[in-house]
Amino acid sequence: MWQVVGQNRVVSLLQHSLERGTLAHAYLLIGPPHVGKMTLALNLAQALNCEAAEPPCGECASCQKITSARHADVQIIGLTTEQNSTEAKPQAEIGIDQIRQIQHSSSLPPFEGRYKVFIIDGAEFLSNEAANCLLKTLEEPVGSVIFILLTTNDKLLPATVVSRCQRLELLPLAATEVEATLNSRWGIELQKAKLLAKLSRGCLGWALSAALGDSLLQQRAERLKRLVDVTRANYEERFAYAAQLVDQFSQSRGLVQEVLDLWLNWWRDLLLVKVGCSDTITNVDFEAILSDWARDFSLAQIKAFINSIQAAGEQLRQNANPRLVLEVLMLSMPKRKEIISVKHD
Ligand SMILES: [Zn+2]
Repeated sequence: MWQVVGQNRVVSLLQHSLERGTLAHAYLLIGPPHVGKMTLALNLAQALNCEAAEPPCGECASCQKITSARHADVQIIGLTTEQNSTEAKPQAEIGIDQIRQIQHSSSLPPFEGRYKVFIIDGAEFLSNEAANCLLKTLEEPVGSVIFILLTTNDKLLPATVVSRCQRLELLPLAATEVEATLNSRWGIELQKAKLLAKLSRGCLGWALSAALGDSLLQQRAERLKRLVDVTRANYEERFAYAAQLVDQFSQSRGLVQEVLDLWLNWWRDLLLVKVGCSDTITNVDFEAILSDWARDFSLAQIKAFINSIQAAGEQLRQNANPRLVLEVLMLSMPKRKEIISVKHD
């Protein structure tokens, strides 16, 4: 059984190709973080190597090895943190050496399964050299080798690479679907499932991580508190916060993108409350505070700042100077004078 939830169109397409033996040599799975790209990629790797009559069974030795990352023919590469240096520094790019290594491995026959599967997580981080090297491999497909590239944004990949892959888009799930899955499959109580389903914006993986440990919700509460504080701070304090974000950015781009996404959701909620659509907001547990804010900012201010956050996110993705981008963002944030406290209740 396919483990991925709510991607019926993509799953039935893959199932159909498996049954007909018309699989592509390379797939590009596109979708927001935590929507289920890796789950689907691993499911496909299982389906290709499963020993049961109806693959992927999830239970045979092969399927289990893939689940626990012990299958010799299924390899995942992506950005990793280099552990050998004294200061653990995350990689900025997927380098050519990583691609050369899988290129070599793909030239050998499968070791224990029927197919060799190479999953490239965060394909938008391939260096130019690495992408060119990968392209050569994709141009000379081998029968029992399948590449699965995962990305949040296919526009950041060279068009030549994209054109060699079958594009499969994974869409966010409906909140009701996330809620029902959390409740029925994972036993999360209904009220918590409802809140997490809203906050996850249709990305089940996020909702699940938040449900199984408190750290994501705690982190969200802390980030929202910073957001509130910084909105009433002076420029000096705002720049100090920008500097902190720049530091984080050099550690992990993803972290800063998450903060910006949170801000975007907050200000979009504010817009929704302002125009009287409170029932569609994401941050349902902060509705009272959002209503307060909606009185303090004009529609024009809210819209302008939403644009600024979007622009900042786009510029960071395009490798603009992070300090400059974040300082401009801090300058464009409208100021809120009134002091209120954020409570999570
Ligand atoms: Zn199996």
